[in-house]
Amino acid sequence: MVNVIKQYDLGYPSMKVTLLGTGTSQGVPVIGCKCDVCVSDNPKDSRLRTSIFIEVNGVNVAVDSGPDFRRQMLNAGVNKLDAIVYTHEHKDHVAGMDDVRAFNQMEGKVMEVWANKGVEIALRRDFHYAFGESVNGGLPKVKINKLGKYEEENGFVVEGVDWTLLPVMHQNMEVCGFRVGDFAYITDVNFIPNDTFKKLIGVKVLVISALKKDKHPSHFTLNEVLQVVEMIKPEATFLTHLSHYIGKHDDLGSELPDGVFVGFDGLIIENV
Ligand SMILES: [Zn+2]
Ligand SMILES: [Zn+2]
Repeated sequence: MVNVIKQYDLGYPSMKVTLLGTGTSQGVPVIGCKCDVCVSDNPKDSRLRTSIFIEVNGVNVAVDSGPDFRRQMLNAGVNKLDAIVYTHEHKDHVAGMDDVRAFNQMEGKVMEVWANKGVEIALRRDFHYAFGESVNGGLPKVKINKLGKYEEENGFVVEGVDWTLLPVMHQNMEVCGFRVGDFAYITDVNFIPNDTFKKLIGVKVLVISALKKDKHPSHFTLNEVLQVVEMIKPEATFLTHLSHYIGKHDDLGSELPDGVFVGFDGLIIENV
């Protein structure tokens, strides 16, 4: 199984992106499901909830901390995490935040998180105990850095690394996509505004969500994603946030145009 791709210039001499999870909100296999995809014995058909890990010049950032965050940190062997940057507040992207405790304890510091208004409200509600008066040592410790209009216009800096904010829509919800160097990540999207398309010019590697082939109220269909790829024209695109309805990894891969690939858990895209 080829897990490391070293074909693209991601824009930084030392840069590596790991797909920690490539499954939709329920993951694949779905509990109790006996469809072809869910019973497949190909490890690439087994998908944790969608998240990526970006390493640039020694700065390690997870995008989202879904329900599989702990498993994903263990699978990728992450022993230093500098920040978590959030896309949006749906549970499949935030539910595992409590597990930052391991990093708090190991590194003896508060976890820096980056969140738009919707994510901040959700984190303060769902993990209220982490934001109270108590200084109990067992609680997760996070510091919220805001992603708002200023960051939309000027970008933001995580431990010296420049990040570009790529606002997109997920039905009525604002979702943050991100560009680092010539790599871009957009998940949970059914509309990309023009200003965001402009920020995607020159992107060489794109990871984007493609839930299934049929219409969905808050996600692009596979065909709509392929149209977006046509506009952005990256050298390579990897699909993520896949549901069991989209078919098996190998079948889907054989249907895709040149330069578009099916993502899978554990795939590493490293700078040339
Ligand atoms: Zn999602
Ligand atoms: Zn979502």
